[in-house]
Amino acid sequence: MTKRIDGKAAALDVRRKVAEGVALFRDRIGRAPGLAVVLVGDDPASTVYVGSKGKATLEAGMESFTHRLPTETTQDELLQLVERLNDDPKVDGILVQLPLPDQIDEDAVLDAIDPAKDVDGFHILNAGKLAVGQQALVPCTPYGCLHLLKNELGDLSGKHALVIGRSNIVGKPMAQLLLAENATVTIAHSRTRDLPALARDADIVVAAVGRAEMVKGDWIKPGATVIDVGINRLPPEEGKTKGKLVGDVAYDEAADKAGAITPVPGGVGPMTIAMLLRNTLIAAHQREGLEAPAL
Ligand code: NAD
Repeated sequence: MTKRIDGKAAALDVRRKVAEGVALFRDRIGRAPGLAVVLVGDDPASTVYVGSKGKATLEAGMESFTHRLPTETTQDELLQLVERLNDDPKVDGILVQLPLPDQIDEDAVLDAIDPAKDVDGFHILNAGKLAVGQQALVPCTPYGCLHLLKNELGDLSGKHALVIGRSNIVGKPMAQLLLAENATVTIAHSRTRDLPALARDADIVVAAVGRAEMVKGDWIKPGATVIDVGINRLPPEEGKTKGKLVGDVAYDEAADKAGAITPVPGGVGPMTIAMLLRNTLIAAHQREGLEAPAL
């Protein structure tokens, strides 16, 4: 029978272990790790994410610093704040919530973050380290997917993994992480030919596309493990104000074929914040010259 992978439970487990690591760090160093989150503007989804990140940070026993800046903030003003946070010894992790308003160059801001505090793992130095197999701060969503896959399958060595999507925040780092685990990795994208045939050959499918229920049940190899990163809102049904949230995988059909599959919501989503806390704990240890505790 197909197993529904419970991302909420896995995330709670990571968060509990992070909280234990925070308590030990505090005893040793005399301060809690600190995470600064910067929000520019009032995008409703970003406002909710930033609120949840702040709450989760406090629940883990860390210090949370939230900076809310107006939509008309200039690039220079934002860069000045990033500089201050880079220099602040109480701040171990810096996260600038994306997307940023049009007048600000996202790459310039991400590159200004001290790579040692880059808990989103988007700095070019961390992306490069991940690519060449050095220890890096890894983007939270693919890191969370890898954690779920290892919980489920243990050793990933020799497995054929298909990653659908090649974005810098999910698809590419996901592929690098799977390669580092000795999986045989195929990366598919919008120009890929015959995606269903590639999927039918995969032991692991990670879908990170942003197209509602694109991956069909008959694409899935019997017994494969399916990780659905997508978050898509369907148009509302009659009489409802909000549409249903679905992933990039047609869940019911795929669940009939898969060995294990993540639902949406309740799969990958909760892991992203858990891994952000995990990255902040790692960054705090590295900045103090300590080895971070294992998960
Ligand atoms: P993106 O738009 O940057 O990238 C999408 C990728 O899909 C591209 O590389 C594109 O080549 C590929 N693609 C588009 N159409 C395709 C097709 N027909 N066949 C194959 N590939 C195709 O998106 P992203 O930022 O990587 O996010 C992907 C999805 O994951 C979105 O739904 C996003 O909301 C979700 N997401 C979820 C979390 C989380 O915490 N759960 C975090 C980040 C992103």
